[in-house]
Amino acid sequence: MNFRHDLIIVGAGLAGLRAAVECADEDVGVVSKVLPTRSHSGAAQGGITASIGNEEEDRWEWHMFDTVKGSDYLADQDAVEVMVRDAPRAVYELEHMGVPFNRTRDGKIAQRTFGGHTRDYGEKPVKRACYAADRTGRVVLDTLYDQCLRRGVKFYPEHYVLSLVFEDGRCGGVVSFDLSSGELDLLEAKAVLLATGGCGKIYETTSNGYASTGDGLDLAYQSCIPLEDMEFVQFHPTGLYPLGILVSEAARGEGGVLVNGLGERFMERYAPTVKDLAPRDIISRAILTEIKEGRGVDGKDFVHLDLTRLGEAKITERLWEITSFARIYLGIDPVHTPIPVLPTCHYIMGGIPTDMDGRVLIDEKGMAAKGLYAAGECACVSVHGANRLGCNSLLDVLVFGRRSGIAIKEEISKSEHQALSSEPLRLAKQKIAGLLAHEGSEKIDGIRRSMRSLMMEYCSIFRNENGLKKGLEEIGSLKERYNDINLQDKGRSFNYELMEAIELEHQLSICEAILLSALHRKESRGAHIREDYPERDDRQYLKHTLIFRNQKPEIRYKPVKITRFQPEERIY
Ligand SMILES: Cc1cc2nc3c(=O)[nH]c(=O)nc-3n(C[C@H](O)[C@H](O)[C@H](O)COP(=O)(O)OP(=O)(O)OC[C@H]3O[C@@H](n4cnc5c(N)ncnc54)[C@H](O)[C@@H]3O)c2cc1C
Repeated sequence: MNFRHDLIIVGAGLAGLRAAVECADEDVGVVSKVLPTRSHSGAAQGGITASIGNEEEDRWEWHMFDTVKGSDYLADQDAVEVMVRDAPRAVYELEHMGVPFNRTRDGKIAQRTFGGHTRDYGEKPVKRACYAADRTGRVVLDTLYDQCLRRGVKFYPEHYVLSLVFEDGRCGGVVSFDLSSGELDLLEAKAVLLATGGCGKIYETTSNGYASTGDGLDLAYQSCIPLEDMEFVQFHPTGLYPLGILVSEAARGEGGVLVNGLGERFMERYAPTVKDLAPRDIISRAILTEIKEGRGVDGKDFVHLDLTRLGEAKITERLWEITSFARIYLGIDPVHTPIPVLPTCHYIMGGIPTDMDGRVLIDEKGMAAKGLYAAGECACVSVHGANRLGCNSLLDVLVFGRRSGIAIKEEISKSEHQALSSEPLRLAKQKIAGLLAHEGSEKIDGIRRSMRSLMMEYCSIFRNENGLKKGLEEIGSLKERYNDINLQDKGRSFNYELMEAIELEHQLSICEAILLSALHRKESRGAHIREDYPERDDRQYLKHTLIFRNQKPEIRYKPVKITRFQPEERIY
């Protein structure tokens, strides 16, 4: 079938929904492969940052400094400034839409400390994260979804986008697959916004939900759009051992501490000023160093997160959900027993390059694609550089989701619908038919497991040239095996095996982009630690990586925008 809207948004997480609210006066269609409220944004626990200073003095300049320093100086500072200055407005807007934030005694929005957020340019931790217990993402997602329904936004839930349609050099729609009926649809639009989230599921140990397979990143990459800074993959320090389920930084924000097998608060050695509230890259590396040097708990691959000092009342009020994960999955009660944790893949700092209004950039000179926008975790503005600070992602998705919405509204008011040919639909049908008909000898699950374990082994926190090259070779052979897959389910309705097969193709392509970008960055910065190049090298690598797919992947670079803060040594 053919459908037509002014704007198609791919993704119903916070970035997609915030843009939809902005454009709701126009005719907007939101396509999501999961039910909108099941998007990964709903799993966000800790909060959203803004220097509103409700609990103690705070300033946007301090927020900007922390974000830039946290990024290991790779963030574009003009974009960071726009984000942090807009943060208070973004939070009050959520409050007015009905988000039930926790409150201070005098009724203001409550705030808590979070890793890397400080006062006076690094003096000591500051309470900057606005939160709703440990369910912040859940309540913001539900609120924005309500706002969209109220404003008449049209949803296509459980519809899987297979391709972007470009005609006459302009993105004019998408082809999507209705998971319930198996029908293919051509959705025409004057503009398309990609808001498809992250790709954590390429790693074995991850905090990400099943839908975080990076489809949007690869849809852009396949359409000759480069990907920026893909080597920067964030590992969150505290995943529940051994599952990887997230224990939010809020646990440390509320006073929890990390302890090694000798009972030492080891972060005092790695970050004497902010200790357990250092940025994630620093803590994850410290945990792995403790384990590598034999100071894991009971000689095993984990350390302890100790919340016992917080007391039952505080844990129940502020950390109920995450402590319930420890009770359910590990059978331990964090009120009395420390939680075993290990770093878990959490977030991708890189993504589809955009300007500050979500326009997708197709080269290192800043040329914008026509009709195509990106926002949220799949986009790289770049405000997080080489390492994102906690609670800055919800801020990013809301600020730049809204800004994209404003820019799109302006564009669609000036442009006409273009009639699309039926060729993209035919190609998609052919692809699906080919996947269903192929009688190969490989199962997608086997290939996916190998991919996840090789990414853990060669491209997680510590990397080196040999490992990255091995990783690339192995991805190459997994791609060959992929050509010989055999799907068991040949049906049309809710054929998740078929969807997962397509997701896997995207994932393999993204793994290659990450490995190659990591191989070419011969320095250590933020989340990218090269054992063979342990120092940060500003002379050669204070620049953004761009990887182009072309016939053969090609790496190019573009400069970092530095406005207020010159790169310094990162001491916490
Ligand atoms: C466990 C966890 C806790 C977190 N806690 C915090 C926190 O406290 N504070 C903070 O700032 N950040 C946090 N983050 C990070 C933050 O939640 C995410 O970066 C952010 O929510 C991403 O939002 P998004 O809108 O870009 O994508 P998502 O919320 O991931 O949504 C992606 C959407 O794209 C759709 N989609 C994808 N591919 C397709 C396709 N092919 N076809 C159709 N639809 C598609 C999906 O259906 C989904 O609707 C957390 C992340 C995790 C995993």
